[in-house]
Amino acid sequence: MGQIIDGRAVAGEVKAEIRTGVESILSSGGRRPHLAAVLVGHDGGSETYVAYKIKDCSEVGFRSTLVRFEDNVREETLIEKIRELNADDELDGFIVQLPLPGHIQEQRIIEAIDPKKDVDGFHPLNVGRTVIGLPSFVSATPFGIIELLKRYQIETSGKHCVIVGRSNIVGRPLSILMSQKSVNATVTVAHSRTRDLEGLCASADILVAALGSPGFIRSPMVKEGAVVIDVGTSRVPSKETRSGFRLRGDVAYEEVAPKCSSITPVPGGVGPMTRVSLLSNTLLAAKGNIYG
Ligand code: NAP
Repeated sequence: MGQIIDGRAVAGEVKAEIRTGVESILSSGGRRPHLAAVLVGHDGGSETYVAYKIKDCSEVGFRSTLVRFEDNVREETLIEKIRELNADDELDGFIVQLPLPGHIQEQRIIEAIDPKKDVDGFHPLNVGRTVIGLPSFVSATPFGIIELLKRYQIETSGKHCVIVGRSNIVGRPLSILMSQKSVNATVTVAHSRTRDLEGLCASADILVAALGSPGFIRSPMVKEGAVVIDVGTSRVPSKETRSGFRLRGDVAYEEVAPKCSSITPVPGGVGPMTRVSLLSNTLLAAKGNIYG
């Protein structure tokens, strides 16, 4: 059985460091870091994510503001609010919780956010700066995965990293980070049109599953001694929980874990790191570390 990578424990360490960072800003006379979240509508998942973000802020000593709109909000009204938040000197960063209702062009909203306050790292300027290795806000999940690998001192240099999934929030930005000179992995990005996915995955020293298909990665797809990072979080029916659901990853954990050198569980692996990385980005914004 390989080592279980404990994302909750690492996220706890990062939170403690952020709390210390906040105390040092305050003790030198600075303003408390401040994050705002814009929530449109009443989607259950989005409500939950935003509630967590607000709770996380209070745990590390950030100020937080929740801005709510109804489902039928006009795109222009949302853009006006974003301009207001961009100009607010008392605010370090903000996020617009996605997905947005169908009548709103998400990309237009993302591009209206001032890149200096884009702590989700979705603005094309931040993505572009990441690609060429400049300081940037990196989206939370890839940021959190890199942090996990670093803190567990997992060797990445010269390793073959196969990432299954090429989304703009996980697979693609992670592929860029993994190939940077600070990480030095050799990266292959796989997707739904990839041929011989099983053979490709089985060649990976580091296998990242980010496709959203519960239990998709089975034992024959994993090399003996590989590091496996499971990003997937699908809600599946369960008789063992009160809610009647549980979270399941993209990896068939029970059969894959015995073959791995290290593996992230679901829940308790990548998820907590995603949450804490938004806080890390907000602290970076408050300290002016990315754009000065
Ligand atoms: P997404 O936008 O749906 O992208 C899925 C990607 O997987 C696509 O590139 C798709 O290929 C690829 N794919 C789907 N089925 C495949 C198959 N059978 N074989 C090979 N590739 C396949 O998903 P996402 O937003 O990146 O999220 C992926 C999973 O991670 C979801 O379960 C999501 O809930 C979870 N997630 C977790 C966290 C966390 O903090 N733990 C954060 C974000 C997301 P094509 O491009 O060819 O369609």
